[in-house]
Amino acid sequence: MTDLVKTGLLRKNAFIGGAWRSSADGTTFEVSNPATGELIGSVANCGVTETRDAIDAAHTAFGHWATMPAAARAEIMFKWRDLLVSNADDLARLLTAEMGKPLAEARGEVLYGASYLTWFAEEAKRIYGETFPTAGTDSRALVLRQPVGVCAAITPWNFPNAMLMRKAAAALAAGCTLVAKPAEDTPFSALAVAGLADEAGVPPGVFNVVPAANPVGVGDILTSDPRVRKVSFTGSTEVGRILLRQSADTIKKVSMELGGNAPFIVFEDADLDAAIEGAIASKFRNAGQTCVCSNRFLVQESVADVFRDKLINRLSELKVDHGDREGAVIGPLINESALLKIERLVREASDAGACIQSGGARSDVGNLFYLPTVIDRVQPEMSIFKEEIFGPVAALISFESEADAVRLANQTEYGLAAYFYTQDLGRAWRVGEALEYGMVGLNTGLLSSASAPFGGVKQSGMGREGSRHGLEDYLELKYFLMGGLGT
Ligand code: ADP
Repeated sequence: MTDLVKTGLLRKNAFIGGAWRSSADGTTFEVSNPATGELIGSVANCGVTETRDAIDAAHTAFGHWATMPAAARAEIMFKWRDLLVSNADDLARLLTAEMGKPLAEARGEVLYGASYLTWFAEEAKRIYGETFPTAGTDSRALVLRQPVGVCAAITPWNFPNAMLMRKAAAALAAGCTLVAKPAEDTPFSALAVAGLADEAGVPPGVFNVVPAANPVGVGDILTSDPRVRKVSFTGSTEVGRILLRQSADTIKKVSMELGGNAPFIVFEDADLDAAIEGAIASKFRNAGQTCVCSNRFLVQESVADVFRDKLINRLSELKVDHGDREGAVIGPLINESALLKIERLVREASDAGACIQSGGARSDVGNLFYLPTVIDRVQPEMSIFKEEIFGPVAALISFESEADAVRLANQTEYGLAAYFYTQDLGRAWRVGEALEYGMVGLNTGLLSSASAPFGGVKQSGMGREGSRHGLEDYLELKYFLMGGLGT
């Protein structure tokens, strides 16, 4: 990684109060490339001391940042955005090295991350208040929108840049300051954007990054320190529950973007070729490692065989390879435990009567690579139907009627994203309304953008990121009654 054009982007220390810091006890942890197993570097291992220091810094910085004119905050955010864009190639190479996704996808992620800075810098200037009529003649009532305060962001490894930028951009636009803890597998992208924040003029303490090998200690402090007023988490439902419990004692605001179990419904009246392209985008992007990935393909019986065969055919075009190699579409999985989980789900389904129609095994490209897989005759009782696969495996189940499709789709504790393909307008409305999900895509396999409210219902979480609603999560309403004004 020494060949980065801007070598300063490869940072190994924590970023606290505008300074690069090693951990107080001098410990570090190693981060390696999932495609090759090669060491990328050793990163400062933060714990209680560094996390407290970061909260101190964020707390001190808050007064100034919160009262700065919104337009001035926005200007700094635009500069930060410009730096992300002008360094997109290097940031993408860093991201591919630590996370594995193909370089083109990594570059797309960096630009997507930058788009949150654009969106929220613009929104910062539109944080409007309200006035409303009062009962008396000598009073006036207002509603102010004010920043929540110091916020904590705990982010995952599957989008090391974009998941952080989505939180950071909203927080900073609102006037909040942030302490971010990136995932232990992918701290470099977060540290790189911290360097660019500094260069853009984000004041010391406004944006802090505390990497850690073991997230529990840092998480404990972030969720228990009373000065942290909001925790925004993206990750598994299991860890979300822990962080919610921990945040209860100090009654923090929380945003939780948790696991999903997205259905992808194909009705017999769908444009099947369009559905196949949507399936590829929604299932195989990032090697199937996104929380909005289609997890269960529900296909109407009359078109089930055709859909399966077309899908298998299309999969043969997806090149499994190292993310930095030409033409790679499916990169490695993040680590051995992710691979073991996929192997377990496929094995259990196959043992219970499902049929592996293509793939179903590790690829010989490298240790952590898994072949794009199609498995059909899946049943609702199987673990592959119930659990988030998080890998390049399409599980197919067939259904008879529209009512069956909706029932199967909603038969899960999760409620993040859902997709369906139909050309019937009436069905489009009916099914769109009946799906118990925070996000629904009709005739499309991709639905994220900075202008859309991203988030789930049921055990997929609470709160929304992106869009004007994403800013609301970082703002408190203050009812301000002014009395004694005279008549
Ligand atoms: P995944 O299963 O996709 O790896 P996790 O929910 O385990 O997702 O991790 C998402 C983020 O949550 C990562 O930054 C990870 O370090 C962090 N994390 C995991 N466990 C805890 C915890 N107990 N406290 C705080 N953060 C945690």
